[in-house]
Amino acid sequence: MAGKRDTIAAGSVHKFGISDKQGRAKRSDDPYLPGEGLHEKAICPKCNSIYKNKRWYLAEEVPENEKLDKDFAHVECPACKKIAEGYHQGVVTLKGQFFWEHEKEILNLIHNEERKTLAKNPLQRIMSIKREEDALVIKTTEQKLAEHLGRAIHKAQHGDLKVSWDDNHSFCRVNWERRA
Ligand SMILES: [Zn+2]
Repeated sequence: MAGKRDTIAAGSVHKFGISDKQGRAKRSDDPYLPGEGLHEKAICPKCNSIYKNKRWYLAEEVPENEKLDKDFAHVECPACKKIAEGYHQGVVTLKGQFFWEHEKEILNLIHNEERKTLAKNPLQRIMSIKREEDALVIKTTEQKLAEHLGRAIHKAQHGDLKVSWDDNHSFCRVNWERRA
């Protein structure tokens, strides 16, 4: 998950919903999810996640003896593809004096929540965490992770939370702010 974390041009954050990729997302919720034709079993050469039974698993979740199977195709998982192409489906913006005073604590919470979510779905990842002016901006590979992070921060630290989805539910924007 390390490596190329943020390939998004400045300003692209504001253009959600109008790019080609977002347009194509209208047909299926997530254009990066495998459709027909994916092998029965595959392994992602970048993060070692394993695809079987029609979903992706973290490498740790798959028993060692199964990993020795020679039938695995090498297929980049949707999360690694999104990270490489800078395609995010969620953005969490954190602001306010209270946030900056508790930045470390809140980032710990974010990383813990990401770990918990990963165990359930290895495709939900944080792509980048970057300061933009007076805010910290977190981009996620999937919409639900952005919503989940926002709700977790709100639960732990209160403040003001706003969660909005675009019309076809292919993008989630979360704003959280606490001043004092
Ligand atoms: Zn991968």
